[in-house]
Amino acid sequence: MSDSVAISVPAEEHAVTLPQAQRHAGPEQVAFPIRTFRQFGLVVFHVLALGPIYFGITWEGVAIAFGLYFLRMFGTTAVYHRYFAHRTYKTSRWFQFILLMIASTSLQRGAIWWATHHRDHHRFSDQDEDAHSPLKYGFFHSHMGWLWSLKADNPRNVARDLLKQPELVLQEKFWMVPGYTLGFAIWYFFGWSVFFVGFIWSTLVGLHLPMAVNSVVHVWGTRRFETKDESRNNWLMGILVLGEGWHNNHHHDQSVCRQGLAWYEIDITYYILRVLQAVGLVWDIREPGWQGKKSSPSPQA
Ligand SMILES: [Zn+2]
Ligand SMILES: [Zn+2]
Repeated sequence: MSDSVAISVPAEEHAVTLPQAQRHAGPEQVAFPIRTFRQFGLVVFHVLALGPIYFGITWEGVAIAFGLYFLRMFGTTAVYHRYFAHRTYKTSRWFQFILLMIASTSLQRGAIWWATHHRDHHRFSDQDEDAHSPLKYGFFHSHMGWLWSLKADNPRNVARDLLKQPELVLQEKFWMVPGYTLGFAIWYFFGWSVFFVGFIWSTLVGLHLPMAVNSVVHVWGTRRFETKDESRNNWLMGILVLGEGWHNNHHHDQSVCRQGLAWYEIDITYYILRVLQAVGLVWDIREPGWQGKKSSPSPQA
């Protein structure tokens, strides 16, 4: 048996051969005490979510939570997912940097790390190598348990295209800075109550909902396309995660930017990108059937 495996990512030019040992696999966890201290910040954030018990909830905090959730979820879906992981539209280097900073505030690590793991999810969807598969490893591991695996820290060469850009390599190192700066600013200008509700809560919801696309939307929902995985379309997640709930459509053709194919499949990320395209900030948004690639036929509305 060969000891290497060909890893290909959405763009064929990034294909690379890597040792078998570097493949992601199932729920392999690291040993104590390392495991205990991994994702320490994530644990702290969940503890801080209890802050409003003492500091209370204000309408100001709730409004800021919604605003920050929307902005940062757009960063996750439009920037980390549809731009860096899948390259489904183009933009200038300077606007890419602005988008990168917005996405960074979601505190979901760097673009290279994010894209690497997501490309793996598509490459090995619902197979043993897909650490995000609820069918293989259960709900908790597919949702967030995989973060405690050392293998989750192994940014392989499937993101070589991103490693060529120095600002992305730098952001990979200092990914916390924009998010923590935002948190500090919220506390400084609005106080503790708004900090806990507006910043901590929106950060956690913005973290759990995209993770639920892996853990929930490969189990619950409908399937339009017979893909090789168990991806689904889930209307509720489609709304909450700004269009990412049309996950079966996305697995059918991950090179397409638009994920909600029918008029009733709300895809807020795509709508905003269309507006940005209209004002010239982004371009070449890949629509279903772009450049004669595999078509994603729009169902009858
Ligand atoms: Zn998926
Ligand atoms: Zn994807």
